[in-house]
Amino acid sequence: MQRLGRKTQALESFGLGLASMEKVECMHHKTDARKENDPTARSSKKNEQLPVSPQESAGSFAGTDGCAPKGSTMVNQLKTNLSLVESTQEDAILHLVEYYAETTLPTEFGIFRVAVFRERKTNKEHLAIIKGEIQGSRDLFVRIHSECLTGEVLHSLKCDCKDQLHAALALLNKEEQGMVIYLRQEGRGIGLGNKIRAYALQEQGFDTVDANRALGFGDDLRTYDVAAAILRHFEVESVRLVTNNPLKMQSLQRFGIPVSTRVPIYCLPNSHSLHYFESKTARMGHLFDRTFLETSRETLQEDQKKN
Ligand SMILES: [Zn+2]
Repeated sequence: MQRLGRKTQALESFGLGLASMEKVECMHHKTDARKENDPTARSSKKNEQLPVSPQESAGSFAGTDGCAPKGSTMVNQLKTNLSLVESTQEDAILHLVEYYAETTLPTEFGIFRVAVFRERKTNKEHLAIIKGEIQGSRDLFVRIHSECLTGEVLHSLKCDCKDQLHAALALLNKEEQGMVIYLRQEGRGIGLGNKIRAYALQEQGFDTVDANRALGFGDDLRTYDVAAAILRHFEVESVRLVTNNPLKMQSLQRFGIPVSTRVPIYCLPNSHSLHYFESKTARMGHLFDRTFLETSRETLQEDQKKN
């Protein structure tokens, strides 16, 4: 793989998933919510904001007479309705998957337990790669990774999926407890065939987002309800999530899995993947450090001049 030459040390100071952790302000915390009589818990929730879709909020302001309730009544009604929406979502995801098989798997990264979960509707199989005793854990080290056949099997240089997966497994092995959840949603959810069609468009100058749109797909069709269901299966209370993708944090929290901390993950780009990194940052809101990207770009340009 074409690697960065000069300034590699500077870039590697970002580490592979070893960048400093960020505390995440949870939109809601299941444990806190259950401590209804704990005044400390209540006060800690005063700045929390719940994401509300228009559909979810539409009925929330309607009083029994069809008029909008006022003041604290309206706020209480809103909170009650939001709680109902959330608890319904949380209950529903419990039935998304069934626990199917589990074994110990020795790997180059360490010895893990691997558990297969099957989606009940589709029989699609997903994998939980587990280190240590995770049942009922709080602040569990978790990486949610989506399948990338081209990257992980063929070592494609167009993306950083393989590097991120390997970094996550290496980090998992350093933890006492943790889990990498491997979701079978290739090509940001559009499937292998359509991903290859998108790559063909990228040969014509489209970036990763415009290629998806040209094919009639959204920018990112991945969902994380299955990941939440797997975490719920193990009764995980909250997670330290290894990700640069804010959508993953929001999704987990929406499905009742609080993200206590975000752990950034940095893998070095190459000349083929740098544009993909930049598109993910500029157009999909991924949280790459600007200095990291600028240094990567400069280094690759210097290397290209030399060759
Ligand atoms: Zn990939």
